[in-house]
Amino acid sequence: EREGWLDLNKNGSKDVYEDPSQALDRRVNDLLAQMTMEEKLGQLNQLVMVGGNDGKDANYFPNLRRGEVSSFIWSRDLALRNQFQRIVVQESRLGIPIIFGMDMIHGTRTLFPIALGLSCSFEPELFERSQAVAAREARAAGIDWVFAPMCDLARDPRWGRVVETAGEDPYLSALCNAAQVRGFQGEDPSASDRVAACLKHFVGYSAVTGGRDYNDAEVSEWTLRNMHLPIFHAGIDAGALTVMSSFNTLDGIPTVANRYALTEILRDEWGFDGFVVSDWMAVLEQVSWGYAKDAADAAARAISAGNDMDMKSDSYFPHLASEVRAGRVSLATVDEAVRRVLRVKFQVGLFERPYTEELGYRTDSRPEDLALARECVTKSAVLLKNNGILPLDTAGKKVALIGPVGEDHREILGCWTGFCSWSRETLASGLKAALPEDATLTVVKGCSINSVAGTKTLQDGRIVRDESEAPHDKDLQIEQAVQAALESDVAILALGEPKGWTGENASRMSLSLTGHQQALFDAVAATGKPVVAIIFSGRPLVLPEVWEKSAAVFYAWQPGTEAGNGLADLLVGKASPSARLSMSIPQHVGQVPIFYNHYNTGRPRSGQYRELAEPVAAYWFGYGLTYTSFEYSPVRIVPASEGKPAVAAITLTNTGERTGVEVPQMYIRQMVCHEGARPKQELRGFQRVELAPGASTEVRFELTDEVLGYVDRQGHARVDPGEYLIWIAPQAHQGSPVSFDYENERSQSYD
Ligand code: BGC
Repeated sequence: EREGWLDLNKNGSKDVYEDPSQALDRRVNDLLAQMTMEEKLGQLNQLVMVGGNDGKDANYFPNLRRGEVSSFIWSRDLALRNQFQRIVVQESRLGIPIIFGMDMIHGTRTLFPIALGLSCSFEPELFERSQAVAAREARAAGIDWVFAPMCDLARDPRWGRVVETAGEDPYLSALCNAAQVRGFQGEDPSASDRVAACLKHFVGYSAVTGGRDYNDAEVSEWTLRNMHLPIFHAGIDAGALTVMSSFNTLDGIPTVANRYALTEILRDEWGFDGFVVSDWMAVLEQVSWGYAKDAADAAARAISAGNDMDMKSDSYFPHLASEVRAGRVSLATVDEAVRRVLRVKFQVGLFERPYTEELGYRTDSRPEDLALARECVTKSAVLLKNNGILPLDTAGKKVALIGPVGEDHREILGCWTGFCSWSRETLASGLKAALPEDATLTVVKGCSINSVAGTKTLQDGRIVRDESEAPHDKDLQIEQAVQAALESDVAILALGEPKGWTGENASRMSLSLTGHQQALFDAVAATGKPVVAIIFSGRPLVLPEVWEKSAAVFYAWQPGTEAGNGLADLLVGKASPSARLSMSIPQHVGQVPIFYNHYNTGRPRSGQYRELAEPVAAYWFGYGLTYTSFEYSPVRIVPASEGKPAVAAITLTNTGERTGVEVPQMYIRQMVCHEGARPKQELRGFQRVELAPGASTEVRFELTDEVLGYVDRQGHARVDPGEYLIWIAPQAHQGSPVSFDYENERSQSYD
């Protein structure tokens, strides 16, 4: 029995693997050389912590003693975590610590805006700072490994998981996700306030057909290379220690067993040396797909393709030894998978610090974390419309706050809420604190965020939906809401979709407000009182009446713990809006998928529908207003000289009366590309620029190979000589392009 970590072994000396002064690879190889087949397969086995008081987790104790478990997911109980760890470290033969993982997508205790919202800040550094907080809170709660960032590219708002992405643009997403990796892992992921990151879901998951979760994905090599893969590649370059393979098929092959994705691209091309974990049960799901005949076949296919760890499906541990004996899986494949897992365990410092001190457990956010969360809210809420009513002039005014999210403590948090299920602050409390003493605030719920369907009990005891009964809403108070609006100077309407309606397994086919909220909006808008709409949602919703009839609209997403205070700051003008849409908002669901970086055809009516005069989104990617106005000069191109790249520049002027932040965005278009047609516009630079009223500044973007280039079908980053259009604009589909001739003798590879 081992008494503690770093003890001397029986003959009085430390093993190489136990000695932190040894090189990483030596430690890994030393340990691997001592392992039996069962111990090796144990390192590829991830189970789920059950939790609760029924003692079910004790069933794991014998497996832990035998070294059959590498990792637990859903590690919510710190005492249990340490108990598991103690058993493994002290009672198993080699004492290889467990790595405990959990989904922390936008915070652990302090919840920041959902990723789709935070990416609207166009400030990737905010991801780094907020995920550093999430990492510290997670590690203190015994989590060593988070299943984030989600690097899938948002394409289709019907797919519920767009909420976890950084939007529809690969350039912005790559920056945001690399920043998340830095935030989670820091310089040294073994530090007591850092965790291992996991890039997911590799790859093509967001391209599922019809936005239906878990489906097949039809993605061409060209689109894969230039839209989906660059985001993951940036995460790998940022040092991500792990990757999760996805549920979907790619080119007919479930990605969990897709050798092209998991080995040829990830390892051979990109040199990734961390480990790949499957998604939940995905190894075994190959059987449902009809790709593997049973669990043993599924295990053999997944590990041989490059999927190292089996999440939950219990296919690797029972079957791989016989697959090796039968010659269907090589021992070298198993060894390599184990080597990768061990390497990460060493890298996150588990061998030196297997336990989490109970003292480190914190239940409250620190004031500076709340301040950061509040800043993130103010930088994520996109101002879509403002007839001049905002910022609100509240002195002596009567304000009505109407709608199901006004006094809500949960919907504002979004999905994957870590260790926080309730926010102390609400929009109502934030507003109350922000209003002057002579202003009044009346709060009326108006309706629930969703109606509840009637149910009936069948003879066999099953409870099912009663189709004969209309969905009902016990909170329906539209008349009171109308009355409150009539008695006020302004009605703030806090509306949205339930938080459970985005996220995993939450695809939608209509992108409307749920329950009676549209009726509530219509009734309040009909009073003629000015309406300020605040939309809380994890995806773009199609709300033409709201856009049209409101005096002002904020798209607030699901802003997290500090939603109320941050939004109040914006409403009363303590902060100015600066967010820009990272995902276009369609006019109509029938346009979906609609994204700004589409192709140019030879047909003027392409992209148009009979029923839509203009083939445009309601609001395109990059769009967002603030409380002042800006003027863009025409673009100037400064030619390359003395080895320095050419530069595109504008003069930006604040022409309004308030200080504000503008986000000039540089778009490019390569006019002729023989490798494959390139999109009509691609974001390749942006800056957040703060200017005082009347002030001007020059905004410059270098036209480097990387800015102009693309990825060819062999995976090489390339740039071609020839004509490009370059423009700098406040959003996609705007601005005046200038022609730029990139002079070079031939196409070149620059990676
Ligand atoms: C999701 C992953 C998640 C995992 C563990 C899966 O169903 O697709 O994103 O990390 O569950 O919770």
